[in-house]
Amino acid sequence: MPSFHVLIAGGGIGGLCLAQGLRRAGISCTVYESAPGIGRAGYRLHMNGAGGRALQQCLPDNLFELYMQTSRETPRREVMVVLDYQARELGARPHIGPPNDPSRPHTAVNRRTLRQIMGLGLEDIVRYDSTVTGFETDGEKVRVLLDDGTSETGDVLVGADGINSVVRRQLLPDVAVVDTGIRGLYSTAPLTDDLAARLPEALFDGFAVAAGPNGAMFAYGVYRPRRPVAEAVAELAPGAAVDPVDPYIMVNLGLPPGSPFAAEAPDLWHSSAETLHALMRTAVRGWDPALADLVEHVDASTIFPVSTRHLQPAEPWPAGRVTLLGDAIHAMPPSFGSGANTALRDAAALARALERAAHGDTPVAEAVAEYETEMRAEVFPILRASADPRGLDADFLPDDLPVSHT
Ligand SMILES: Cc1cc2nc3c(=O)[nH]c(=O)nc-3n(C[C@H](O)[C@H](O)[C@H](O)COP(=O)(O)OP(=O)(O)OC[C@H]3O[C@@H](n4cnc5c(N)ncnc54)[C@H](O)[C@@H]3O)c2cc1C
Repeated sequence: MPSFHVLIAGGGIGGLCLAQGLRRAGISCTVYESAPGIGRAGYRLHMNGAGGRALQQCLPDNLFELYMQTSRETPRREVMVVLDYQARELGARPHIGPPNDPSRPHTAVNRRTLRQIMGLGLEDIVRYDSTVTGFETDGEKVRVLLDDGTSETGDVLVGADGINSVVRRQLLPDVAVVDTGIRGLYSTAPLTDDLAARLPEALFDGFAVAAGPNGAMFAYGVYRPRRPVAEAVAELAPGAAVDPVDPYIMVNLGLPPGSPFAAEAPDLWHSSAETLHALMRTAVRGWDPALADLVEHVDASTIFPVSTRHLQPAEPWPAGRVTLLGDAIHAMPPSFGSGANTALRDAAALARALERAAHGDTPVAEAVAEYETEMRAEVFPILRASADPRGLDADFLPDDLPVSHT
């Protein structure tokens, strides 16, 4: 496989994992990432065994262990708990996906920490400030086009460039991006021992959601690492550029379209942090005092707006030298906490397929076809379920989803 080279558009969760997997398999690759570096956004990602196993396959052993040790302690119950606005439990739903390793079955990560870990050792492979604008193929090779007017050639191009993927728009122009109309604010509150002692116990389960009578919804998720991040880095990757992270609780306000509360909300993208914090305070007026007090503890500088969009599952397409992974082909609402996990799952599966192609065991188009067929079968049911309007109901769990019962 002397000259086999993979071009990766996008150095997010999936693109970095794929680059790690290829590097581990001895396959050359380049990642083109439009951002100038790893962003500051440090919210929490729920992880399941699909994502965990992919990281175990792709990362060097010390970095996989670093991911594990800097991930969240296994909670008392790994479920999504549904509360009313007085913090009374209405129901609970298991998470989907298999558990992680037997001694540390369930976890969550700080997104920025995971990206920093996945970036280690890829310093010569990831090109920041490099935006992909399109591609050309001639059957034998693929050429990626870059915004500085240059282009580079490889054997396969992988679009790992997120929901607005330039690669997908060229390869599969008919795939629709659906805007659910749901808007939200993500934020975090520092999780001091004092605050933790005053919060309802359900907020320390896997994930918790609560809805108020005016339509405002909150989602909560704790990030308290198994071991202090700096301590784990010092032992497992001394000198590595992974920032320390203090424990926090993610506090997200969701505004479903048509709800009275959403109708009164200001433009989330053009409001100051103080205005957005004031909106969160208004949303919890009359709520359980501990839930209302939690909003007081939100660090206003961490608040950012989010709109919930997803892709329509694409009809099967002919496989070739250009393929897609993660949000670029199955961006989904966060209802089942699966977007990052499925992006990682894709990255590991594609690394295995490209290894077969690079060694000449399987023709490139056949290896890509196997990856795409399996991806559609495994991930599209999760996309469909996540996009269902009943996505946050405690009793909504379609039969074709892999449920975690531990
Ligand atoms: C607030 C929030 C909370 C979430 N919570 C969870 C959770 O708990 N669990 C979970 O599993 N998932 C969660 N997700 C979903 C998860 O973050 C995504 O599904 C995941 O990041 C997808 O990975 P990806 O690599 O496909 O895309 P991304 O991580 O979005 O990476 C795409 C990358 O491509 C780059 N890029 C874009 N266009 C170009 C271009 N033209 N050229 C070069 N580079 C380009 C972008 O800068 C970006 O770095 C959440 C998402 C959000 C927004």
